Amino acid sequence: MTTISANLQAVRARIAKAAREAGRQPEEIALLAVSKTVSPERILDATTAGQRAFGENYAQEGAAKIAALADLGLEWHFIGPLQSNKTRPVAEQFDWVHSIERFKVAERLAAARGADRPPLQVCVQVNVSGEASKSGVSPHDTATLARAVAALPRLKLRGLMAIPEPTADIALARRRFATLRALRDGLNAEGLGLDTLSMGMSHDLEAAILEGATLVRVGTAIFGERH
Ligand SMILES: *Cc1c(COP(=O)(O)O)cnc(C)c1O
Repeated sequence: MTTISANLQAVRARIAKAAREAGRQPEEIALLAVSKTVSPERILDATTAGQRAFGENYAQEGAAKIAALADLGLEWHFIGPLQSNKTRPVAEQFDWVHSIERFKVAERLAAARGADRPPLQVCVQVNVSGEASKSGVSPHDTATLARAVAALPRLKLRGLMAIPEPTADIALARRRFATLRALRDGLNAEGLGLDTLSMGMSHDLEAAILEGATLVRVGTAIFGERH
């Protein structure tokens, strides 16, 4: 067994254990393998271990890998900061975008998404820690942005995403994730039908699953430290 397939098994076991502790089914939680800086060969290694969904942070790097692995029918998620002048390649090549924080970017993605493709699946990114340096819309402005994005053609708003500040304080991490869940629940009470909470990474996926994560984004625990 390769290191990557052993790591994938270990991450799946962590997800299943946390799900059981939360009284949830492991199948409710999707695993996104974050492959930024990872070569196509190592991504291929993960696919032979059954992984189908991959997350990339940079448009150009992601596009090159999508082209290199095009015949495998993988699912590609864009999870990095997105400027409005870089939207076209992302709209054309990715299946999902998790990092919508401005309406203008969403509008451009919608305009660039081909009518022959399925809608681009998107999440609004929320700054749940309130740090000025962090990406994401403020909790206060989340509902306004989510409603506007949900009304755009060619996009399908699936839910919310967050990257809380790194912390060893599990109670704090859980509060941040609970903030995202409460925002999602509020939008669903209005009828938005959001089924995705994209939260939890290598170091905090258990806390995220306890608070309702439906998709965890895991890089280091699968592919090792990035250089
Ligand atoms: C890099 C990255 C991850 C994965 O982080 P790890 O700590 O390596 O698991 C998840 N989400 C986003 C947005 C990232 O940029």
